[in-house]
Amino acid sequence: MTTRIPILAEITEANSILAENLRAAFAAEGVLVLNLMASPGAGKTTLLERSIAELNGALKMAVIEGDPHTSIDAERIDAAGVKAVEINTGGGCHLEARMIQAALDQLDIAGLDLLVIENVGNLICPTGWDLGEDLKVILVSLTEGDDKPLKYPMGFLTADAAVISKVDLEPYVPADRSTMRENALTINPDLAVFEVSSITGEGMDRFLQWIKQRVADKRSRTS
Ligand code: MG
Ligand code: ZN
Repeated sequence: MTTRIPILAEITEANSILAENLRAAFAAEGVLVLNLMASPGAGKTTLLERSIAELNGALKMAVIEGDPHTSIDAERIDAAGVKAVEINTGGGCHLEARMIQAALDQLDIAGLDLLVIENVGNLICPTGWDLGEDLKVILVSLTEGDDKPLKYPMGFLTADAAVISKVDLEPYVPADRSTMRENALTINPDLAVFEVSSITGEGMDRFLQWIKQRVADKRSRTS
């Protein structure tokens, strides 16, 4: 029984080494990599679809889609006009660096501005696995309840940005965006917080401006 913890430590250490190799490969190409995390149904894929439409080709981007089953999300991204590579985890509840490494066999990152990794829907264990990303973005919908940052603090603690989605539904749910924002900032005062609706488009401008600035910063570090 006592061997369990060392084995997990070894696995996560191996993951960290691989993640650092990925980070170096991404840095060499100057591509900004986002690890997008959220619970199932928070609207990760819908946020990406809206972002792709609004960016309208302004950034050269690709998406790695992590899903426990099916390739529905990868097909949606593909239909939106952006290259998507599916990682089907076969029921697994998070992505690991070795899976990203394998996905890169099907994806040419040369010339990309932005690579978004849509993690498996889960607010707990994805936060513990480094994928070589530059930034972690945690998405939480208003419909989940404004107490979620307090109940799942790890994701908010380790993230660079928090996106509060489905704000168009605020009149219909017993949760409010200002409480959600306050709770997220209580866990991590350094978070960039965005309030968006992928349906009405509210708040998308500010979120996409933040991404474009990060892309430019990454490019300037490379060249
Ligand atoms: Mg999805
Ligand atoms: Zn997991």
